[in-house]
Amino acid sequence: MGHAMTGRADLRQIPERGSREWEAAFRILDAGFLASVGFCVDGQPFVIPMLYGREDRTLYLHGARLSRLLRELGHGCQVCVSVTHVDGLVLARSAFHHSMNYRSAVAFGAATAIETPREKIRALHVLSDHLIPGRWNEVRGPNKTEITDTAVVAFAMEDVTSKERTGLPKEDEDDYGRPVWAGVLPLTTETQPLVPDDRLVPGVEPRDYARLFRERRGR
Ligand SMILES: Cc1cc2nc3c(=O)[nH]c(=O)nc-3n(C[C@H](O)[C@H](O)[C@H](O)COP(=O)(O)OP(=O)(O)OC[C@H]3O[C@@H](n4cnc5c(N)ncnc54)[C@H](O)[C@@H]3O)c2cc1C
Repeated sequence: MGHAMTGRADLRQIPERGSREWEAAFRILDAGFLASVGFCVDGQPFVIPMLYGREDRTLYLHGARLSRLLRELGHGCQVCVSVTHVDGLVLARSAFHHSMNYRSAVAFGAATAIETPREKIRALHVLSDHLIPGRWNEVRGPNKTEITDTAVVAFAMEDVTSKERTGLPKEDEDDYGRPVWAGVLPLTTETQPLVPDDRLVPGVEPRDYARLFRERRGR
């Protein structure tokens, strides 16, 4: 697929770990749900954690209509979004060669507010499905006031890069003989047993939300 070579998405450090392929970035974005959303207001950079839902090259973001963050994002400002998964600590025999196993994506583009209730609801459905598929259809949908009070922003990704490191430490040959433990401490985000709300209507059973959540993330 073609890319606009703007320079901002050129991979410089260890470029062989990186990619500018959309599919590689999509895998990383779909495995996550929390983005660091960066934007500038009057020369002041902000980086704010936000949920997202992906549909093709668009990430949908949402929040309170009155929040400053959503007001700024809705004005077509330039945005940089980053999503990271830490898969392990790489423990080497030398301090220098310690590293991390990770998958991360960085996307550049512009954000614009979604205005019509119908499009807002569709975007919120995408966002909800990105977290737990099917949950949207189980719950009461947003009413008129709730839709008005919710700001929804479409972030159109123009350039995207992804980087990934896997495997064992890469050491200087001389260090392999050192009597120091080396390898990887794997890290994962785990689901835990559900905690039911204490005002549940009797007899209401959950679906297997943990499995749905994991499967949506490709796990
Ligand atoms: C896991 C997670 C998911 C979230 N998902 C969403 C989402 O999908 N939509 C959404 O609107 N909000 C989300 N939030 C909250 C979001 O990060 C902001 O706090 C929120 O949007 C407030 O925006 P605002 O415009 O009112 O902030 P402002 O009032 O403009 O913020 C003022 C200042 O408060 C500080 N601040 C704001 N947010 C944070 C923060 N999270 N942590 C530390 N300092 C902060 C910053 O210094 C900022 O400049 C999420 C937070 C977390 C941790």
